[in-house]
Amino acid sequence: YDIPSRDKSFSAEFAICTLPIGVLKKGSVRFDPPLPKAQKLAISRIGSGAHNKVVFRFARKDIFWPKASPNFNSPDPCIQWLNLHAYGKCGVIVAHIWPPYAYGYDGDSDETVSSKVLDVLHSMFLNSTTSKENIPKPVDSIVTRWDTDPYSLGSYSFKAQSMETGDYLSASQPHPIADPKVVFAGEATSTMGTQCVLGAYLTGRRAAREVEMLGARKRVDHTMVELETIGAHEDPTSDHASSSE
Ligand SMILES: Cc1cc2nc3c(=O)[nH]c(=O)nc-3n(C[C@H](O)[C@H](O)[C@H](O)COP(=O)(O)OP(=O)(O)OC[C@H]3O[C@@H](n4cnc5c(N)ncnc54)[C@H](O)[C@@H]3O)c2cc1C
Repeated sequence: YDIPSRDKSFSAEFAICTLPIGVLKKGSVRFDPPLPKAQKLAISRIGSGAHNKVVFRFARKDIFWPKASPNFNSPDPCIQWLNLHAYGKCGVIVAHIWPPYAYGYDGDSDETVSSKVLDVLHSMFLNSTTSKENIPKPVDSIVTRWDTDPYSLGSYSFKAQSMETGDYLSASQPHPIADPKVVFAGEATSTMGTQCVLGAYLTGRRAAREVEMLGARKRVDHTMVELETIGAHEDPTSDHASSSE
């Protein structure tokens, strides 16, 4: 299978595709031969959602939130706080940003996003009479934009209303079906760990197993391989099976 890139082309007997669901949906990577219609449809039905983060670092003397609380909610349902200071990262606090604001931040610039998100933290822990010049300023901040980053186009998959049973499997069917050369891995191709690192890990193992079987000219049952990689097909009540849920 040939994988052309900007500078080089790579050739191998098999390829493992771990493109994120947002990139697969956009179709910015071309498969030759093209993916079958059913596979493209399954990919189009899987949701690609937005979950972003805004990370702030303050000087130790400027920490104004509870130093030892690991997490706290906020009055704004789009924002949840993860206090990395409590985990040993001095002065660092992270805002999880959930939809709808997580989708493009309403067009706000990084500066505006940081300022709006910080206003929420101020409203939670600073006295409303604190004068502007006495409000602590972060020394650094980062705004992620996973929903528009061309190499992710979304944070991770979600079960969209349009989805049909079996879409995760159909979307990751080894390709071409008659003589597969490309197998798929990644959280959005997992039946047991979608959205999470667990799904990326399990499907990575599945892909390795599929390549091994294809290389040995053995028949691949794509519906079973993810289960097989954790041995859960042998005993569904085993510890492995329950810990993967
Ligand atoms: C804000 C946020 C918080 C999260 N929190 C958690 C959590 O607490 N626990 C948890 O388990 N999971 C969490 N996740 C999800 C977790 O990060 C993903 O499930 C996991 O990273 C998916 O791995 P993956 O290999 O499927 O895809 P990715 O990690 O997205 O890897 C895909 C790779 O493909 C590359 N790529 C894309 N396009 C191209 C191209 N055209 N050519 C070549 N390469 C390309 C990308 O650069 C990337 O390296 C979180 C995700 C986000 C965004």
